[in-house]
Amino acid sequence: ARNLVKHFRVNAGLFNPGDTVHAVDGVSLDIRRGETFAIVGESGCGKSTLARLMMRLLTPTSGEVKFDGTPISTTGGAELRRLRGDLQFIFQDPFSSLNPRLTVGKLIAEPLELHAPELDGAGRRDRVGALLSQVGLMPEHADRYPHEFSGGQRQRIGIARALASGPKLIIGDEPVSALDVSVQAQVINLLSDLGRDLDLTLVIIAHDLAVIRHMSDRVAVMYLGQIVETGPTDAVFDSARHPYTQLLLDSIPVAEHGSPSQVARSAGETPSPLHPPSGCRFHTRCPHARALCQAESPVLGDQAHGVACHFWREIAAAAPRAGAKSR
Ligand code: SF4
Ligand code: MG
Repeated sequence: ARNLVKHFRVNAGLFNPGDTVHAVDGVSLDIRRGETFAIVGESGCGKSTLARLMMRLLTPTSGEVKFDGTPISTTGGAELRRLRGDLQFIFQDPFSSLNPRLTVGKLIAEPLELHAPELDGAGRRDRVGALLSQVGLMPEHADRYPHEFSGGQRQRIGIARALASGPKLIIGDEPVSALDVSVQAQVINLLSDLGRDLDLTLVIIAHDLAVIRHMSDRVAVMYLGQIVETGPTDAVFDSARHPYTQLLLDSIPVAEHGSPSQVARSAGETPSPLHPPSGCRFHTRCPHARALCQAESPVLGDQAHGVACHFWREIAAAAPRAGAKSR
């Protein structure tokens, strides 16, 4: 993604006519083949919009997304069909994304008809059975309906359906946040295993850092439509450089359950994406803010562990984060 911008004009509800939501505001990132990349931030930070831009489910206001060197916004015809097979999406709520009137077998066979037209009926049935086994369900489950399954099982069905087209990249938008905590780890482990076994590239969108801690290779932290820090997951967790990342990390409950956003909010409300603050967008909440922060936007830079903060070096030198390593 290069300089991606998505502004929405809104004319409804709480908004004034012509208000513009700055959902994504200048995001550049590279996702490498085979890696698991996490995008984290509070709700409303633009991470879902960014995911949809990367899937061509939304058109950017400006900027560009390339997949394997192909600009996705200008592809059409057969190339677009192939692209649709290569890129798959897993939704937060598996139930609402599955047609309740279709059997699980039909739901998984649908993408096969498009992306594996060489298969006949029997071939498709076999493939559906194999996909169900791959996600830890049984071939016999093909004859049942989505409502007969638990939330975790339905997310497995959603994953099987995503796998049916033989994708290279899967983006999961909060793929486990609708699930019980006890089930979250199972689905995360399944995604990790599939990513490794099938050589998939995974992009996981999450508001909860605990979820992505052990599964992602690299992470980008978003705040009000921009990436404020990105780097290898271990580096970002062990030595967070951006004050916002530090705030997010401090709000992970010790037992890794509960509601982290509550703690994060105690440091002040997130400003509206209608009128993002000038300069560094975090300056209204940042304990280290100075005059420069209001005047000038810090840039992320393109180093391996990038941080968009004017003063991160001084902040790190003044107060090494005690106990960060033990997390
Ligand atoms: Fe805080 Fe300034 Fe750094 Fe922004 S640039 S995170 S306001 S210190
Ligand atoms: Mg979202």
